[in-house]
This record gives sequence, C-alpha cells and structure tokens, in this order.
Amino acid sequence: MGYFQYDVLREVSRFVTTHQWSGKNSILIRSETGQPFSAPDTHSAWRNYKRIFKLCLLFSEKDGVSVPTPVAQILAQSGAVTCDEYLHFLVEATTDPSPALTGWSVIADGHAVRHPLCFALKYLLAKVAGLNVPITPIYEVIGAYIDSGFSGAEDDTAFLNLMHKRAGYEQIGRNANLRQARESIKFISQISYLHSDGSNIITSLSQEDAMNIFQDIQPISGPCEADGNLEIQRLAALFKDGSEHDFFDYKNTILSDVLESGFSEGSKVKKTHIVIERNSKLRDFFFDRRPTTVCDACSMDTKKKYPWVERVLDLHHILPLSSGTRVDSRTGTMLDDLVPVCPTCHRAIHRFYDGHLKIETRKDFLNEKEARYIYAKAKGEIIKGDCYAS
Ligand SMILES: [Zn+2]
Ligand SMILES: [Zn+2]
Repeated sequence: MGYFQYDVLREVSRFVTTHQWSGKNSILIRSETGQPFSAPDTHSAWRNYKRIFKLCLLFSEKDGVSVPTPVAQILAQSGAVTCDEYLHFLVEATTDPSPALTGWSVIADGHAVRHPLCFALKYLLAKVAGLNVPITPIYEVIGAYIDSGFSGAEDDTAFLNLMHKRAGYEQIGRNANLRQARESIKFISQISYLHSDGSNIITSLSQEDAMNIFQDIQPISGPCEADGNLEIQRLAALFKDGSEHDFFDYKNTILSDVLESGFSEGSKVKKTHIVIERNSKLRDFFFDRRPTTVCDACSMDTKKKYPWVERVLDLHHILPLSSGTRVDSRTGTMLDDLVPVCPTCHRAIHRFYDGHLKIETRKDFLNEKEARYIYAKAKGEIIKGDCYAS
C-alpha cells in the first residue's frame, strides 16, 4: 500500500523523469526516493514494483527501461497539480483489464473494458446522494461491482437502483476476498472528501455535492491501443490536455465552502488541504481516537479556557498542501499526518507557510520532509513568542 501513496508517486515521478529506471539501478532509486523497494535477490526492484507505477500511469516500458508519461512530468513539479486532481483522473482512466498488466491484449479483440475505480467512487457518491449514508464497507463496494456487472459508465438512476440490493453486497465481496480490489479502494480514499477506517470508506459530502461530483465523473473511452505500453501513454496524455478530462474541477460543489475559509485565496494547491481539514467525518474520526482538547502549537487547553465547549480545535494536515491523506492498509487514514490546533494558531501557521513559500517562489512544499520541517519551525516561533508562558 505504501507505494500507492500520492507523495511516493510524486517521488517516483521525479525519479523517472530524470533517470531511466531499469533492472540495473535499484540502489539509485532507493536513495533518490527514500523508499526501501525491497526485493528478493532473484528479482530487481524494477521487476517487483514497475507494475504499480504503470497502473498509476507514471511510465510505460520499452526494452526493459521506463519511459515517463506526461502524468509523471506533471506530478514531478511541485504544486502543479493536487492529489485530488490526479486521483480523479486515475479514477476515470483505470480499466479492468489494465494495460499495465498481462491480459491487456484481449482488448484488441473487441472485449469491453470495465472501470473499477470509477464504479467504486460513483457507488460511494450515489450512496450519499441517494440515501445520505456516508459509511460504506469496502466489501460492499466490491460485492456491488461483482454482482451488478456494471462497467462504471452507468448514470445516476442506474447506480441509485443498485442501492435496493445493497444488503447482499457485503457478503458477496467478503466471499470473493480480492486483495487488490480492497487496496485500490483504499487507494482512492486519499481523496480529500473521503477517508478510511481500515474496513469502511467514509464520504464527507452533502447530498447535493455528492450528486454534482457524481455527474462530473465519466470513464475515459476512445479507441484504445492494442499495445499496453502505448495505451498507458495514450491515457496519460489526456491528463491536462485541455479536453473535458483536463483536471477534475470541484465546479460549484465544496469549492464555495473552501473559498470562505478565511486563510485561503482559493489557490488550487490549497484546496485539497482545506477540504481535508474541513472533512467533518475525518474530524470526528480523529477526535474519537485522540480525544485531546489541547492545541499542538501553543499548548492552550481549549477546554479549560472555554469550558462550555468540548474543544475549539481545527485539524491541520502537515503534508504538502496538495497532498491527500495517506492510508495504512490495516488502520486506514493515517492520523499522524494530522494535528489539532486552535483556530488562531492555524491561521498563523498558514501565514507562516505563505511567507516561506513566497521566499522560495513556490506554491507548495517539495515533499513531506520540508512540510514537516516548516510546521515545526512555525510551532517553534509560536512557542517562543508566547508572552503568557510561565
Ligand atoms: Zn494554538
Ligand atoms: Zn491547515
């Protein structure tokens, strides 16, 4: 699961746009990306891991060497795109069978492809849009995919009809026990308005927003290439090409809320950050497991200061602003990337970020390490400047 994290995909993108990855440079990719890429002696890291990154449309393969795609070129630039934009694109581009895996050649014979990620996301959205039920067991999504036979291109009426049969889906999904399907559903829970508790996906959207996003999602079609590697390049070229698939946009949905958040000028890279922090279900999930009332930055105990409220704390996400929420395959959304801060400190931290990024003339942090370092630095300044401290 670790290799599917958005920030790892960005590191790998940087690597493959500056080096050719093959069976020969395992040590280099380990040192450049900071990932272990463990492989048995008989296998190279390339042979063990290339499928993951081909599935993510970062490169195709020619003569045993990586050929970067336009997706990798964009992901390699800091702040050029957000995790949400990338994942919504991948949702629309991913097919079953996949051009990254053996078995793709059957498509040339006219077999229809299915779109499993598109199906999964549309199912989650339809459940909120139609029933206003935010929690969905991962096995239920898998069972619905198996039982419905849907391709993922169906409209809202068709998806809403599936809801009548949902009671049986969880068991069907459980019986099928498809590990890869489970992992890929957790993978999309990096999207800002979703999170995972390990066995469920929780969607934090209003019914109206869920329907609007549902309407925006459509699998990429068009004549595909019989050669899997060419197909990877064809799909990847549709990312940011100016067509209808150019970036997922929130359109009139949650964006309006985000713009009123006070410390955002509505810049694209901040959107993902703020939608995560405004994810009300993720907030409940966090404080349920870490029931603190103390600000991580200034150490104010908000329960003591304002005893009539349980807490006056925001969630702050300490990864780069354009990053999604990381996911652990067992426990779900990783809570260590989130810190509770009082609203005043939260605003001040974002101003500190703005100042740092302005000096660096960048829109976002380069990586997790820089983001964590600057957070620690802002926190240090807050502690230093605390005139009430004893
Ligand atoms: Zn504070
Ligand atoms: Zn924040």
